[in-house]
Amino acid sequence: MTTQTLHGNANVPTPPQRIDVAIVGAGFGGMYAVYKFREMGLKIQGFEAGGDVGGVWYWNRYPGARVDLPSIDYSFSFSPEIEQEWTWSEQFAAQPELLRYINFVADRLDLRRHIQFNTRVTSAVWSEERQLWTVKTDRGAVYEATYCIMATGPLSIPKDPEIPGLERFKGRLLRAARWPHEPVRFEGLRVGVIGTGSTGIQIVQEVGKDAGELFVFQRTPSFTMPMRNEDLTPEYMAEVRRHYAGIRESARNSAVGGVRPQSTRAFFSVTPRQRQQLLEDAWKSGGLAMLGTFCDLMTNAEANEHVAQFVRGKIGEVVKDPVTAEQLKPRGYPIFARRPCLDSSYYETYNRPNVHLVDLLNDPIVEITEKGVRTQSGEVELDMLILATGYDGLTGALLAFDVVGRDGRTVNGKWQDGARSYLGLMMEGFPNLFMTTGPNGPAALANIIRISENDVDWIAAAMQHMQRQGLATIEPTAQAEQGWMDLVYTLSQRSLLLKAKTWYVGANVKDKPQGLTLFTGGFAKYREHCAAAAQDGYRNFTFQRPTLARPVPHTGQEAPAEAAVAG
Ligand code: NAP
Repeated sequence: MTTQTLHGNANVPTPPQRIDVAIVGAGFGGMYAVYKFREMGLKIQGFEAGGDVGGVWYWNRYPGARVDLPSIDYSFSFSPEIEQEWTWSEQFAAQPELLRYINFVADRLDLRRHIQFNTRVTSAVWSEERQLWTVKTDRGAVYEATYCIMATGPLSIPKDPEIPGLERFKGRLLRAARWPHEPVRFEGLRVGVIGTGSTGIQIVQEVGKDAGELFVFQRTPSFTMPMRNEDLTPEYMAEVRRHYAGIRESARNSAVGGVRPQSTRAFFSVTPRQRQQLLEDAWKSGGLAMLGTFCDLMTNAEANEHVAQFVRGKIGEVVKDPVTAEQLKPRGYPIFARRPCLDSSYYETYNRPNVHLVDLLNDPIVEITEKGVRTQSGEVELDMLILATGYDGLTGALLAFDVVGRDGRTVNGKWQDGARSYLGLMMEGFPNLFMTTGPNGPAALANIIRISENDVDWIAAAMQHMQRQGLATIEPTAQAEQGWMDLVYTLSQRSLLLKAKTWYVGANVKDKPQGLTLFTGGFAKYREHCAAAAQDGYRNFTFQRPTLARPVPHTGQEAPAEAAVAG
């Protein structure tokens, strides 16, 4: 029992509150979960560490933050009303517009009243006897929930670089993933950016315009391609609205969960002249068109290298200083094995006299000092240092607090050799605990909103099944989980994603188990696996009947007489 109320009155015990579903996180997955389970008549409570809804788009307010999937695709599909009421202004929406959209959805569906903001869940512990999760928060509240939904997101735990002296820096230290809400000015300042992934690239091309001097500390160069963003006309948006149903259907049945172009053409099936032309066309077309030129770019290393060389050629054409151009050309890993970035003027930024590339492969950072960054060749004095150094991806959020399942087993223990789950949705040993966009699913490789919707719908169907059958707990079998992990592993071995040191494979976090714990078979196939798992009375799961005389949460479904209980 806790001794604090939500409002912080010490010594006033707060009795646990009984709910049906605890939902951790209020990004896309958490928001949809709140809506869906409320509509099913369940008693829900959401928890969110941020001050409002939005997840990554709440936190990542850095200059240049923008989605790299088409906005019409990067939006909820579950509500035709919202689709009809919302208008996107750009092909690739910037963070402020994305956050407006997210707030619009939260207002329209009245979601906020179910979510406690500025609240971190500190533990979730399963009681076998009582068949419920006890969820505690850092505000001293305690909830007892039949189901626990971890909508904690694959990219929610930012990672500082392991560079000595970070705390010594006397200038302004900013983290991309915890960007201030008030405007930040760069004019006349000496600014440093560490990190050149998707985030760093977006920051550099914006801050380079305003900063007095900008120093970009690059360890591994990324491949980036022209976004060629466009304003969306009212006429086009009207067309989209008329055709949303078909657009969504094609997204759901695609490998990437989106409307991005895809190809069935193998690279070496067309002549060198035709290949060159297709790549030129894709470069001009912009967006992720390059990735859709050929079907075997992630499996055929030789084809991949041709495309990488094409992009290196483009870098050489844009960047005037030949030394800088060479340093910006990524080598030693396949193109698209790191997240492909989209930019509007990244390489051009290095032609500005105020922008300087510091190539850490030749001149590594030694330490952060009071005044700036010391590399082997000397100290770069800075007024401001921006960290765009990534995340403890996929697993970081769930490992950041105590999640204790059956027989005292922890997620930390279960995942000590790498994340394990069935479908990225559930874990053996953790009854009634569900993840959205979890590890071992397609997170990061497909549209996160399509995955979130798939996952929440799947969870809802499982709950309805339990209610119909009068079941109290659900848990995947160890065998089903192992089978899924074997499939994830087998598929991953064919993918060139393994050939780069990225957050996809855990390479960016010290001592993290290494491996590609993502389902690389494509979103459409993933959906098929999820649907199959719900067939035949959920045969890959064990269920228990209620141990106490307590009703199973009512989900709007009638309970039939006979229950199919395994285990
Ligand atoms: P990231 O891709 O992991 O990049 C982190 C960068 O920081 C890398 O360049 C890394 O270099 C560098 N770094 C880390 N520690 C360092 C150190 N000690 N010294 C020097 N450099 C260091 O992280 P991110 O850019 O935040 O992107 C993460 C993911 O977020 C993306 O893959 C994408 O999925 C998503 N994202 C999407 C968008 C979008 O939709 N437009 C925008 C931003 C982010 P090394 O590679 O050498 O380690």
